[in-house]
Amino acid sequence: MAHSHAAPGDLTRNQGLVLGTLTGSSGPLSAYDILDKLRADGLRAPLQVYRALDKLVERGLAHRLESLNAFVACADEHCHRKGLIAFAICSDCGKVNEFADAVIEERLGNWAGDQGFKVERTTMEIRGKCAQCAVVA
Ligand SMILES: [Zn+2]
Ligand SMILES: [Zn+2]
Repeated sequence: MAHSHAAPGDLTRNQGLVLGTLTGSSGPLSAYDILDKLRADGLRAPLQVYRALDKLVERGLAHRLESLNAFVACADEHCHRKGLIAFAICSDCGKVNEFADAVIEERLGNWAGDQGFKVERTTMEIRGKCAQCAVVA
């Protein structure tokens, strides 16, 4: 996730700190993990972290993984438009791979169209073993 795009200059100090922590992490972090890492920077209250996370998620700079109740920095610009965001989560090493898939997106779009369902957001989470962990096993 080191290739994450540069943070916009108009973030607040707390948002910048939280995004930097997520970008520098090799795996997803909970709000409390983030708070722990930022205590030295003067963050004390979970609410400070939650507020910053809310804004980062809203802007597509970070994502919430529902199944883990944890956050990752966005790894790609693709999801700054509305669409499908997919994550493959390794249950051994915790690595998260973010990707997009136009075929799945189109199929879900067709289904939603047929049903008259207005989609606001689609997030897929795939649990399993990453290529490296699968080889070791
Ligand atoms: Zn993303
Ligand atoms: Zn793994």
